Amino acid sequence: MSKTSRFALAIHGGAGVKPDRDYSEVEAHLTKLIAHGETMMSEGASAVATVETMVIELEQSGLYVAGRGAAPSKSGRYELDAAIMDGDGPRAGAVASVSRTRSPIRAARTVMDTSPYIMFVGEGADAFCAAQGLPEVEDAESWYRLPVGVSAKETQMNELSHGTVGAVALDSQGRLAAATSTGGLFGKEAGRVGDTPLIGVGTFASRTVAVSCTGLGEYFMLAGVARDIEARMTYSGRPLADAAQASLDAVARLGGDGGLIAIAASGEIVMPFNSPGMKRACVREGESPKVSVL
Ligand code: ASP
Repeated sequence: MSKTSRFALAIHGGAGVKPDRDYSEVEAHLTKLIAHGETMMSEGASAVATVETMVIELEQSGLYVAGRGAAPSKSGRYELDAAIMDGDGPRAGAVASVSRTRSPIRAARTVMDTSPYIMFVGEGADAFCAAQGLPEVEDAESWYRLPVGVSAKETQMNELSHGTVGAVALDSQGRLAAATSTGGLFGKEAGRVGDTPLIGVGTFASRTVAVSCTGLGEYFMLAGVARDIEARMTYSGRPLADAAQASLDAVARLGGDGGLIAIAASGEIVMPFNSPGMKRACVREGESPKVSVL
């Protein structure tokens, strides 16, 4: 395939930050990670491989409320959600409420690549991933850790988790992809699932746009955010920035907050949020990476 686009990549580590906390470790991590992603894409990695790698590294760092940084639900069980979508196809995979599988985003990718389905949940999802040979958490106490800027007490409060992670990419062959992974809301009831693993809500990619959301999932579900952005672009011809802002405004009107990262087929990147800050970084071919928290 010949080169048709300048690549573009954006990553996030969740909406909502506490302005009085020190996020220098997070900023350093995002800076390193976006540089890694830039290298991958400049060497010709596909959008879907890049977003998966970015989210695996965000999960494994334990700095965010996803993967190793997830907090348990009220039942004491860790219940994690993730989704990935390759806009070139399209193809998608998702898991919800996995407790044993170490990397929820690898689980989602495995569902996409090896099953005829799009989503697995709970015990069945863990069993499917184990059968596919994905690594499991052997000792939850030593595997999970509190993410940066989060106290143990906060993980029991029902609020925005401040740390869902995600990535969106446009590769040099014009393909778009999105991936999102979360431990869900702090203090959630057992079995609660938010927007993250829902294709078209927290995660979506097509040939027009790739979107990864973070925020109060219930409101993102009511507004159907990710697919709504694509619909505004496709049906009304609106530019990405307008479409993303309109969709986020719909979330705000319903009473929710959060943010999203998105890339259009043109290479335009947007990272709007209406929460106090959003950990984020982006890069476009030939430009310097940008990293911000507030
Ligand atoms: N959207 C996630 C959820 O509702 C939480 C977050 O992004 O902080 O599960």
